[in-house]
Amino acid sequence: MTLDEFYKICDAIVPDEYGCHRWPRAIDDKGYGRTKIGKVHRLALERKLGRPIRRGFHALHHCDYKPCVNPDHLYEGTDKDNVRDRSERYPEGAVKGGKACREKYGLPERNSKGQWTKRINL
Ligand SMILES: [Zn+2]
Repeated sequence: MTLDEFYKICDAIVPDEYGCHRWPRAIDDKGYGRTKIGKVHRLALERKLGRPIRRGFHALHHCDYKPCVNPDHLYEGTDKDNVRDRSERYPEGAVKGGKACREKYGLPERNSKGQWTKRINL
C-alpha cells in the first residue's frame, strides 16, 4: 500500500454515529488499524499535521476509539497527556476500552473552559 492508497481508503470511510472513521481493513491485536506502511491513526494524524509525529509523542484519540482515523479525533501528545486526558474524560475512573467508553458516555466534548464533558447516551 502507498500513502496515496491509504488516503483514498480514509477518504471513502463513512463516519459512524459518533463521527468516528473506523479503519475498514486490518486491525491489529491491540485494536489499532494497521497497514504495511504503519499504524493508520499515526498516518492519519501525520497527514493532518503535514509532518511526522515528533519523537516521544504519540497519535492519541480524543474519542478513545482505537480503529478511528478521523483526523479531527486525533492529536499529538505524550503518554502523560493520554493519561490526563483520559482521567479528565472519565473522572470517576471508568471503563477501559474505547468502544465501551463511547457506548457509555458518547464522544466526549470540551466545554468553554476546555474541560471534557460527558455526553451520556442512555
Ligand atoms: Zn473517533
